[in-house]
Amino acid sequence: MELNECKKLGFGCMRFPKLGEEIDIEQVKRMFDIFMEAGFTYFDTAHVYHSGKSELVVRECLTERYPREKFMLTTKLSTWNFQKEEDIIPLFNEQLRDTGVEYFDYYLMHAQDREEYEKYKKCRAYEIASELKKQGKIKHIGISFHDSAEVLRKILTEQPTIEAVQIQFNYVDYLNPEVDGKGVYQVCREFGKDIIIMEPVKGGYLANLPDEAKETLAVAGEGSPASYAVRYAAGFEGVKMVLSGMSDIAQVEDNVATMKDFQPLSEEEQAVIEKTRDLLIGMNRIECTACRYCTDGCPMNISIPDIFALYNSKTCYKNWGTEGEYDKLTEKGGKACECIECGQCESACPQHLPVIELLKKVSEKYDNRDKK
Ligand code: SF4
Ligand code: SF4
Repeated sequence: MELNECKKLGFGCMRFPKLGEEIDIEQVKRMFDIFMEAGFTYFDTAHVYHSGKSELVVRECLTERYPREKFMLTTKLSTWNFQKEEDIIPLFNEQLRDTGVEYFDYYLMHAQDREEYEKYKKCRAYEIASELKKQGKIKHIGISFHDSAEVLRKILTEQPTIEAVQIQFNYVDYLNPEVDGKGVYQVCREFGKDIIIMEPVKGGYLANLPDEAKETLAVAGEGSPASYAVRYAAGFEGVKMVLSGMSDIAQVEDNVATMKDFQPLSEEEQAVIEKTRDLLIGMNRIECTACRYCTDGCPMNISIPDIFALYNSKTCYKNWGTEGEYDKLTEKGGKACECIECGQCESACPQHLPVIELLKKVSEKYDNRDKK
């Protein structure tokens, strides 16, 4: 099976539903079944997702339950899992074991940016991936990417073995200078690479819009906010797959209904999306996608994405009562003001967010309440 033969919606395996602290396996099985029964076949995971559990869940819910030729499976070589060249093959073999397959359809060099790319080059990651491809253990080599168009051009020039590029792309980030969605997309086209889209709903943000934006978008028609975001991304030329990190059955059903017989946006719908985008850009939200790459290494156990979500909820959604939620959240983990500025989170953040500065801004609103 190849990307061209697949329907254009992929299952992102980084936001599975939870039952308490554990992943809700039975719900994931039902979600995968609904997805597969509707004719969708592409799954995307990584060794680091869900603190190492995502690949194991993929085995239990997918690869042990469906014949190998019925699905495509992508996983990634993540920077957090290797330090030197010699670590890569043992890690790869562990990924095969964890997922229960004999080959991966795509193996992506995860979260490539200016700095990470140098590490991957130094550890010969691209050469090792090519050797694994020759052995039939990888069908295709790709990257997931978080940096400027100029950095992508350099990587694609130096690494001609790359066949696909996974990029952050949605109707807000298309014009976001930090993400450079438009520029990065154009470089993929220039090099003729297959494009896989991640974050089409921006970590859930474009599915759960502030009221004013929801009203603006409603003019487009009856579809859910997520359906317009997914169709926006899927409509660009060269886009072969749009991933969605689905977290419950309702999200699977909505996405499946949207993409079963995919229709690109009409001109009228496109105009409404652009109006909604202008409104959202003016809201100055903290652009955290809740990927949680920053949390495991925080020495103060600060729940960074949850704290940012509360701040956004207060400032963009005008939700009252987030102070109580903040107090509850920070009973178990650190407060924004307890950040010791070690910088670990900033080096892990694929959005390149100035987390330390942002936590100070959040702290002003939540930790300084008594002083006001
Ligand atoms: S800079 Fe602050 S928030 Fe970030 S990892 Fe260090 S202590 Fe945690
Ligand atoms: S702060 Fe960055 S790394 Fe942390 S969850 Fe948000 S986007 Fe991900």
